[in-house]
Amino acid sequence: MMTKDQFNKYMRDRYATRLDVREYQIGRTLARYHAGHWASVQSQNQELKKEVLTHYGKNGKLQCCWDGCVVDDLDVLSLDHLADDGAEHRKHIGTRIYRWAKSHGFPPVLQTLCMNHQWKKELTRRRSSWYDSNRARKVVPHEFRET
Ligand SMILES: [Zn+2]
Repeated sequence: MMTKDQFNKYMRDRYATRLDVREYQIGRTLARYHAGHWASVQSQNQELKKEVLTHYGKNGKLQCCWDGCVVDDLDVLSLDHLADDGAEHRKHIGTRIYRWAKSHGFPPVLQTLCMNHQWKKELTRRRSSWYDSNRARKVVPHEFRET
């Protein structure tokens, strides 16, 4: 049985002489640091997302804008481009849409939608392109065809 001093010396020597032990310890310290850093970045992003989605939500509340929808869960809400130009817009500003919206004073080109209604809107848009102006059926990819 080692005394406390002996044990401390043993650990010091081990740390000093064993490169792998040292690297392991440094790795653990860095991992803890990064985990903490990551958590704080995540929570900042969540705060920003919440602020922006609240601004664009129904009546300035954190809620989906779809008529009659009451979804208010931050995890399933996201920003929607009113004019369906999301893909084009994202090319210019990347995915930093939340930061962009806030720093540009919340331009009225966005709304908050839940995932279901993002999809519903997209589906509606695709369906509308199934027909031309004479209501004649256009050729569409089979997966979007009504059956
Ligand atoms: Zn909704």
